[in-house]
Amino acid sequence: MNPDFEIVDYRRFRPYLVANAKVEALHAGTRWGEGPSWFPDAQMLLWSDIPNNRILRWVEGGGVSVFREPSNNANGNTRDRQGRLITCESGARRVTRTELNGDITVLAERFEGKRLNSPNDVVVRSDGSIWFTDPDYAILSDYTGIKGESEIGRNAVFRLDPADGSLAIVTDELVKPNGLAFSPGENLLYIADSGATHQQDGPHHIVVYDVDGACLRHRRVFATIDPGVPDGFRVDVDGNIWTSAEDGVHCYAPDGALLGRIRTPEVIANVTFGGRRRSRLFMTGASTLYAVFVGTRGTAFP
Ligand code: MG
Repeated sequence: MNPDFEIVDYRRFRPYLVANAKVEALHAGTRWGEGPSWFPDAQMLLWSDIPNNRILRWVEGGGVSVFREPSNNANGNTRDRQGRLITCESGARRVTRTELNGDITVLAERFEGKRLNSPNDVVVRSDGSIWFTDPDYAILSDYTGIKGESEIGRNAVFRLDPADGSLAIVTDELVKPNGLAFSPGENLLYIADSGATHQQDGPHHIVVYDVDGACLRHRRVFATIDPGVPDGFRVDVDGNIWTSAEDGVHCYAPDGALLGRIRTPEVIANVTFGGRRRSRLFMTGASTLYAVFVGTRGTAFP
């Protein structure tokens, strides 16, 4: 079998692999890449090079160019139902939307008068609500943001109401909430807790909640990621979770079973599905953007 793949459950993982597809390195030279987001109308991938303070753009056949610099140490990116870019600016401690004419609208920067920590990753639900994590990573040093104090005093996950723009904490019970994604039916929300990066014996798992309107209920651990931590992940149309890990990308079935792994030459931070059929998995490593074709498709609005 292709050495880029490690199959744990042959029957369940084999259909998701393209046997002769290799992990391709598309671009090298980032310091820490995160926040890949696919824009199908332009057939382009945007992703953040956080320490270098820029958002990069990759186009098939067109190479890589700078999309935005400075980016306020942009981290997670996603696309809303109107095709607009939503960005976690971890250095500016805010979440923004880039309008179709290029204007930037600030969506969230304070909660109850206090500055956010450093928004990390973001998803948009079909009802227009915007859900994002706000760990303290980018205020711990000047590397991926600006060193500073937490005004909120906790690491929370927020929901931005589409009707009035109000912010609410949906959970503050994770050590370092990081990547997040809805299940295909949006009845579940998966959230990575990468607390092990700064806490000995800290969590390195993905938890899952039932989504009850604007609330989250019934937290349980979905999968523990080893080696490394789950930073970011995406969900395919069958509900499988494709998550970053220290040795590449791990694929988990909806029941939490590990199906297999994609091996990469370096640690992976975030992933997203893209390409003409959303069947190409883009993986942002520390220094390099990788991609591999797979036998499934990502959800339309990751
Ligand atoms: Mg992250």
